[in-house]
This record gives sequence, C-alpha cells and structure tokens, in this order.
Amino acid sequence: MRIEYLCKYCRHLVGELVRPDWSLADAERFCGIHHLTPVERSETVTYNRDRGVMYIHTVCDFCQHAVELHPELLIEGKLLQ
Ligand SMILES: [Zn+2]
Repeated sequence: MRIEYLCKYCRHLVGELVRPDWSLADAERFCGIHHLTPVERSETVTYNRDRGVMYIHTVCDFCQHAVELHPELLIEGKLLQ
C-alpha cells in the first residue's frame, strides 16, 4: 500500500507513506478515513487500484498560509501558485 498526500490546490506532493504490508483497510484506519462521512471521504480520498496508491487530498503549508492571508482566494475557488 502506498499513500500519497497531495495538496488539493496546487497538487504538490506533501508526503508519502509506503507500507507494503498494509491492506486498504489498514491504510484507511491509519489515516482516520473511517471517521469521515461519505461526502468528506469522496472529497478527501481517491484510490488508484491499478497502481495500489491511495491519494489523500490535503493542503500544503504554502497554500494553508496563502488561505490564511487571503481567505478571499478560497471564495474564488482557486489559489495563485
Ligand atoms: Zn498547495
């Protein structure tokens, strides 16, 4: 199981975990995905079965900072790179 954390705004790879011994259920438990509602889950997690990669959509430090400084950017639905 490979887990990649991607920024949902700029697609930057924030981090990754490689746990060959993990099943999908193990990865979901570790990442707290089972606590999410189905809607949150569909917005947060995508799974590439062919590659065996789970993508967790998060916010990188840069975008987090940008949103805090310029919340209006979120209202427009996009962030400057
Ligand atoms: Zn970002």
